[in-house]
Amino acid sequence: MKVEPITVGAFQVNTYLLTDEATGHAAVVDTGETDELPRRLLARDPVPDVKMILLTHAHLDHAGALPALQAAFDVPTYMPRKEQPLFDTLPVQAQMFGVPMPPLQCGRIDHRADDGDTVQLGETTLRFLSTPGHTPGQGCWHDDHDIVVGDTLFKGSIGRTDFPMSDPQLMVDSLRRLLALPGHLRVWSGHGPVTTLDDELRTNPFLGFLRRERGIAGPPGFRWAPGT
Ligand SMILES: [Zn+2]
Repeated sequence: MKVEPITVGAFQVNTYLLTDEATGHAAVVDTGETDELPRRLLARDPVPDVKMILLTHAHLDHAGALPALQAAFDVPTYMPRKEQPLFDTLPVQAQMFGVPMPPLQCGRIDHRADDGDTVQLGETTLRFLSTPGHTPGQGCWHDDHDIVVGDTLFKGSIGRTDFPMSDPQLMVDSLRRLLALPGHLRVWSGHGPVTTLDDELRTNPFLGFLRRERGIAGPPGFRWAPGT
């Protein structure tokens, strides 16, 4: 699978174009908050053969442009099931940030993903890992080489857990489960550069608790939630 980050919008969010190389079938992960992503995709020659839209979570910068993206690519759309309450607040989020969005037009969700669910992109199987904490339903999409993590994990940091629907305690457990995946996985975050699970496990200051739990050498890091 080819992974291409496409950084868009005022929040410089990383959206992703995932392409199954055997078939050319593509998935778009996340949307930005404006029509920049669909405009850039439609301007390509050839236009990517988009078969599905996958959301990591329903913050404005990740899901706000779903109506515009679906207007360009009318394809099945998958969202983490537990993200529905936050998804329903998208018009309010848009209002808060002054982003124009017609009221109550959040876009269409066709499938709700639960932990362990898989979707087939050409010959590539993508698996959904539920990693709540930053938001109620935040999740990651991955194959055996690459994982798109949204705002769960960044190079040298983690997603904020001080938002109204965040839960630091859930984040602790989600990071434990995420970092239990094979360390060679390339980590494609919602903001910032690519990294790997191994690099973060060894150096990320928010993962000191995991290093202690597993006896891995590295910096002690921050205590940012009970148990860390
Ligand atoms: Zn977010």
